[in-house]
Amino acid sequence: MLQHTVVHHGGHHTVTGSCHELKWGASSLLIDCGLFQGNERSEQSLEIDFSLDSVCGLVLTHSHIDHLGRLPWLIAAGFRQPIYCTPATAELVPLMLEDSLKLQTSLTAKQSSKVIDVIKQLMVPMEYGHWYSIDWFNHNSADIAYFNEWSVDLRFNPAGHILGSAFIECRLPNEDIVVFSGDLGPTHTPLLPDPISPPRADYLYIETTYGNKCHESVEQRSMRLAMIIDRSLADGGVILIPAFSVGRTQELLFDIERLIHEHDLQPDIPIILDSPMASKVTESYRHFKMLWGKEAKNRLSQHRHPLAFEQCITIPDYASHLKLVNRLASTGEPAIVAAASGMCEGGRIIDYLKALLPDSRTDVIFAGYQAVGTLGHELQSGQGHVDIDGVQVEVNVHIHSMSGYSAHADKEDLLRFIQGIKEKPKSIRLIHGVKTVQEDFAQELKMLGYDVES
Ligand SMILES: [Zn+2]
Repeated sequence: MLQHTVVHHGGHHTVTGSCHELKWGASSLLIDCGLFQGNERSEQSLEIDFSLDSVCGLVLTHSHIDHLGRLPWLIAAGFRQPIYCTPATAELVPLMLEDSLKLQTSLTAKQSSKVIDVIKQLMVPMEYGHWYSIDWFNHNSADIAYFNEWSVDLRFNPAGHILGSAFIECRLPNEDIVVFSGDLGPTHTPLLPDPISPPRADYLYIETTYGNKCHESVEQRSMRLAMIIDRSLADGGVILIPAFSVGRTQELLFDIERLIHEHDLQPDIPIILDSPMASKVTESYRHFKMLWGKEAKNRLSQHRHPLAFEQCITIPDYASHLKLVNRLASTGEPAIVAAASGMCEGGRIIDYLKALLPDSRTDVIFAGYQAVGTLGHELQSGQGHVDIDGVQVEVNVHIHSMSGYSAHADKEDLLRFIQGIKEKPKSIRLIHGVKTVQEDFAQELKMLGYDVES
């Protein structure tokens, strides 16, 4: 009898470049098509090096670049099948790609917008919680063999990772349910609801970014943030937060709003969101308020604006950005600045780092995962000098790493998700993680009686 297989084109033993192909007979579906980042990028080519003949569609779990960044290359390779994702992801995808294409390719703005238009036309938004039936049918293939009577049912479910993120249930023609976790969020974050385990998952493909770590709690992270901010404001200088435009930035804004509201954080300190992309994404978060978690909705009902409060200043154009960097560097006046990119791989944070790393009054807060090979990782590992654009920059700042702002589930969250599935999956395959972490997590699962492959 026909069984599914899954081929990994990235994101198996890596934390970036997610791309999995779910095969059924002569047909297949891609789950994500992400970009490799950090060291993983130099080891991998961006070219689509697998055949698209049998591919009937692409399912996007969420809008992070390591899950969709190879889309332009997929289009270049001739892909013209439907792209299934949630409505919020559909709104975020063009923003993310616009930004990524600026950094990644030599395409002109006009060429980039053409590619993005093609992608927009292929997108088929699917609401959370509904089963949708799609045909295993390659629209480009002349071979009638691909047009068969099979269909696959898809259901998107909130993953609690970022706005619009989903884990996907795929019901195959033989009634097997294959679940792809995408990136799962941690539990108890105030902005998004917790992921709820699927009722059934015969085959589970689950991310393991933090399969051997436990994050600090949401309460601990707020307290630590308050302490870092207090201490840092006492000696002046700037607090820099390299921010991932989607997810972390909004969580941070959310907590800073609380600190202002409940803990009398220095009321006149400017909170600067210097990332046009993060500002746009924050607007999307506000637009999709109905997807927020309970606490966030409560704040709205108290007429608070957790993602658009008074002290939060956004910097639209590049000239104002440069002026601000120079002003902060020369005056040392206190400010909290969140700027992209999150791993310091480019974006406006670079100008701040060049100007402020030598100043011992500066604090840098890392709120997300720093892949090996990125400037963020170098700074996090405490190097005294770093190379930025070919210039050696002295590092005298205080570095803080806060795991509590991770948008990823930790070990406990992953175990809870798996144990929440009523009937044990026939097989669990660990993906989207570093091999050693996967081995540790596999060991843990085996002790609990699960059939697992890392
Ligand atoms: Zn993600």
